[in-house]
Amino acid sequence: MKTTIRRIQQHLGLAQDGIIGPVTLRAICSALGIREVPTWPTQTEVRRGTSIFGDPGREEQLVNIIPAYQLYFEGKPVRSIRVHRLIAPHVKAALEEVLQHYGPEKIHRLGLDQYGGSYNFRPTATGRSLSMHAWGIALDFAPATNAYALKSPRATLSHPACEAWWRIWEAHGATSLGRARNYDWMHLQFAGL
Ligand SMILES: [Zn+2]
Repeated sequence: MKTTIRRIQQHLGLAQDGIIGPVTLRAICSALGIREVPTWPTQTEVRRGTSIFGDPGREEQLVNIIPAYQLYFEGKPVRSIRVHRLIAPHVKAALEEVLQHYGPEKIHRLGLDQYGGSYNFRPTATGRSLSMHAWGIALDFAPATNAYALKSPRATLSHPACEAWWRIWEAHGATSLGRARNYDWMHLQFAGL
């Protein structure tokens, strides 16, 4: 095993200590085209206001992005979506990957083009604390068929056909409340639970 690792390290031009440390692991992942999954703050850290996302409701932290495919909000085409600048490249890339994986027809059939909003200075559904939407780090999709209390398998985003949708977002470090807690399947956030 150690010899094999040394040979891999040699191949990658690294120091040959025969141990898979962080440097070797990163080089192997990069050689295999595997991206590192970013780690985002937890929602408790976000609510404290000291995380990389700063304070909620700060307009200067937000940017508008043009989605890779046409989104609709309550039946009307969406021109751009407003998110925190730190997650913007991930949202952009994820939607491009969704388009590549599913194509426009399947996207429409699965309701992945039904947008439910992102930045919104508001409390959570329970009203006890600020929603991750208030920082522009949460997005909602297919709200009509994934109401807050709807569970799997009734929530359409819990269906097996949406597995790739979630894997794409999760590869960018996003968390699905549906996948983690089986409610609010429309919602995904760039903050841990
Ligand atoms: Zn939401």
